[in-house]
Amino acid sequence: MSKYQEKNFKNNKKSSNFNENNAKNIDFKKNLGQNFLFDTNLLKAIVRDGLVEKDDLVLEIGAGAGTLTKEISLVAKKVISFEIDKDLIERLTKLQNEQSNIEFKFQDFMDADVETLFDGKARVVANIPYYITTPIIFKLINSIHKFKSIMVLIQKEVADRFASSCGTKEYGITSVILQSIFDVSIPRIVKKECFTPMPKIDSAICLLVPHNRYKISSFDDFRNFVHLAFSMRRKTLVNNLKSKFEKEIVLKELKELGYGDSVRPEEINVENFIKLFEKLKNN
Ligand code: SAM
Repeated sequence: MSKYQEKNFKNNKKSSNFNENNAKNIDFKKNLGQNFLFDTNLLKAIVRDGLVEKDDLVLEIGAGAGTLTKEISLVAKKVISFEIDKDLIERLTKLQNEQSNIEFKFQDFMDADVETLFDGKARVVANIPYYITTPIIFKLINSIHKFKSIMVLIQKEVADRFASSCGTKEYGITSVILQSIFDVSIPRIVKKECFTPMPKIDSAICLLVPHNRYKISSFDDFRNFVHLAFSMRRKTLVNNLKSKFEKEIVLKELKELGYGDSVRPEEINVENFIKLFEKLKNN
């Protein structure tokens, strides 16, 4: 164990639910976002946050030492769990032998074909590697019809952006895109001290539950529209949109939605973003 690992190991050991055997002999790889959880009570709470029930198939991205995988497998019908780090195969195979409802995939999740991975719908419960948070979420979104819910443990500031409301400083592109298709909530903050090794900042559980509140004619076009709308945050919305839409028409549609000429993108709520997109795309 390096000095760095030893310090974090000791920090986390203070918790009475910390499973010492699980944390030993792991060579934590920073470049793979390896910050693991070993507190059984916390892991059980995370499984509850993920809305897991006994008939559920659960997809996990990043098994790590398999501590969360195990807690999910004690509740769910089946767990499919991806892990890219081949050094963890031996440890995880032992777990698979104990818990027959776990199927490990020792490969990069980004190469997986979610459409053919399982039949029916699944829930996602995952403490995901922070270096690919957004690509993972957008890969899951591309197969949204395959999921009952998506629960990811991510950096708190990213979760705050996902869940933020119109008018706040965190509200932006990802808030609008995610909230146009999901109810987004943060059921739990997970302090940095809970992880081994300890990261620099706190994390949060972010729960995404698909809703069908809005009809969006083309989600890909809507995403591009939102990107364009926020392209220059300090500019007015009409200035950001004028490269693709006629200024007078944008102003007219904004007026119909109750906004003035100088409204900024962060002042438009999700519902009105969709309305504006649907109106402008036909012009
Ligand atoms: N689930 C474990 C836990 O909660 O303790 C580990 C979580 S750790 C934050 C993320 C895990 O994802 C690491 O074990 C890392 O090796 C794995 N990982 C990183 N990139 C991956 C990828 N592209 N595909 C699959 N697993 C990946």
